[in-house]
Amino acid sequence: MEVQFLEKGPGQTRFILRDSHFSFANSLRRAMVAEVPTLAIEEVNFYENTGALYDEQLALRLGLIPIQTDLESYVPRSKCTCENGCPRCQLSLTLSVEGPRLVTSGDLVSSDPKIGPADPRVPIIKLKEGQKLVLEALARVGCGRDHIRWQPVVACGYKYLPRVKVSKENANWERLAEVCPARVFAPEKGKYRDENACTFCNLCIQAASPPGSVTVTEDRSAFVFTFETDGSLPPEEVLQRAAEALKEKATEFKKHLEANGKA
Ligand SMILES: [Zn+2]
Repeated sequence: MEVQFLEKGPGQTRFILRDSHFSFANSLRRAMVAEVPTLAIEEVNFYENTGALYDEQLALRLGLIPIQTDLESYVPRSKCTCENGCPRCQLSLTLSVEGPRLVTSGDLVSSDPKIGPADPRVPIIKLKEGQKLVLEALARVGCGRDHIRWQPVVACGYKYLPRVKVSKENANWERLAEVCPARVFAPEKGKYRDENACTFCNLCIQAASPPGSVTVTEDRSAFVFTFETDGSLPPEEVLQRAAEALKEKATEFKKHLEANGKA
């Protein structure tokens, strides 16, 4: 197995996974979506809300704000020794604003100076003159399998590694560069801009002159992964933690097999 990064966040991250199988690629994708813990707002105590939105609507919006996650300092509530929440299992964020103004995630004041909302520009509500919003939000560690608010990645997917071949007989390279929506071909003859960007749309095959001078195949043992993080965790950490989650599952399975295999 081999991993090669093509692009690394903060926006999109792309990497190639070689010498693997689609069952593993899909397990990795699912682990990235559902098994990597992050911090997200789970409980909101409203002290004053005279704006246009109900408490419930605001709480839903707050829950979807990505929070920078420090998994060395925070543990899930279920793994904490406290009873009613403590600084190890929850992060308190307070908000106290008065209109007229647009309230954004940047107005949330975190009790931990190291972490807070991943992006200060997420709109929460627009307050009119005299309207007030005072609340305390509690962020806790959770996983995407329990609720989407804890999902660290968006648009996480993969495809087989494309292999685009243009034979020597081909006489219309410029046309190929023109028709390809993924911009696989560079304008200069014989040069590729990004072969891995191919989406298997086959427009180059249809445009090829003479016909048959372009072939596109997929390498079924290699995968091009693409994902974006919501800013709660760096892309490398998402991947590492997803791999750890898979390892943990395999170890647990093995343990059960050994225990029951003896009977
Ligand atoms: Zn605790």
